[in-house]
Amino acid sequence: MDSNTVSSQPALKADPMEGMAHSEAHYFNSYNHHGIHEEMLKDEVRTRSYRDAIYQNGHLFKDKVVLDVGCGTAILSMFAVKAGAKHVIGVDMSTIIDKAKEIVEVNGLSSKITLLQGKMEEVELPFPKVDIIISEWMGYFLLYESMLDTVLYARDKYLVPDGLIFPDKATIFLAGIEDGEYKEEKIGFWDNVWGFDYTPLKQTALTEPLVDTVDIKAVVTDPCGVLTLDLYKVQPADLAFTLPYSLTVRRNDFVHAVIAWFDIEFSACHKPIKFSTGPHTKYTHWKQTVFYLRDVLTCESGERITGILSNKPNDKNRRDLDIAISYKLESEDPGRQGSGSAEYKMC
Ligand code: SAH
Repeated sequence: MDSNTVSSQPALKADPMEGMAHSEAHYFNSYNHHGIHEEMLKDEVRTRSYRDAIYQNGHLFKDKVVLDVGCGTAILSMFAVKAGAKHVIGVDMSTIIDKAKEIVEVNGLSSKITLLQGKMEEVELPFPKVDIIISEWMGYFLLYESMLDTVLYARDKYLVPDGLIFPDKATIFLAGIEDGEYKEEKIGFWDNVWGFDYTPLKQTALTEPLVDTVDIKAVVTDPCGVLTLDLYKVQPADLAFTLPYSLTVRRNDFVHAVIAWFDIEFSACHKPIKFSTGPHTKYTHWKQTVFYLRDVLTCESGERITGILSNKPNDKNRRDLDIAISYKLESEDPGRQGSGSAEYKMC
């Protein structure tokens, strides 16, 4: 049958996305396809850290009711059952949950895992309270497209007092990098395109952070932790912040960009489990986020780059971010002093 004919559509199935904002539906649809789940499941650092944090803490999971916020293919739900949970509830808005149900079934875990399709903020759970929340909510730059708001909603509504959150700590780091060649390719390119001045697009290119892997050899400064989120305490309003940073220059070199990454910690564990998405360690699908500066800073070992990082969820779509970075090279050489600021959009 022609798949475009009306009769091929299931006539009575309600569309769970109906009435949802376009950007919201787009977000959930992006998780329908198995490809994105393949990328996450194959991310060794990510998935192994969750598995270790859960398996190595059977004493915490034993006989507990667990909520898996944004369960996707139900991998974390299944880890929790294997660790001894009494029951796991997995919630996901995306249609991947249909496959998650089949996966749970073929693994013989259906009696221990209840999977619900819907928005976490709207579904009705079969338990009034849960002992543990597990969730993999992190986006690029930690907060881009992040569903942290959703985890906080679930925490406030369902988590028992003294309940546990896996993971429970996230820290954003910054560092300065030398990146002349690639900056020229991505930004300088617009100066002369087939003989024409394309600098209006140069401005646009500068406002868009790049998500890419950064070679550790390109890092010119020490890292600087800017913000740590404690998942037990953080409030949605804390995701808009303005914070100072200070980067100590480690060698004489140019600095073309500031990069950001995040570390994650499961501190409830007997032996705390952590992973980093920084340039100094193993690849993760979050890579790093590169913010090109307007100028090039010429730095000498021992000098500092100081400035302010601010972030605000976009007014129209909270999953998008408005980010600003100001920077100043604190040098005693007046010829090399430099400062500036730039605004970026992650959308
Ligand atoms: N836990 C899985 C999937 C993580 S990806 C794993 O670790 O592999 C995040 C998932 O959360 C996506 O499948 C997305 O559809 C879901 N999600 C995000 N916000 C949600 C919300 N508000 N309600 C329900 N599901 C949500």
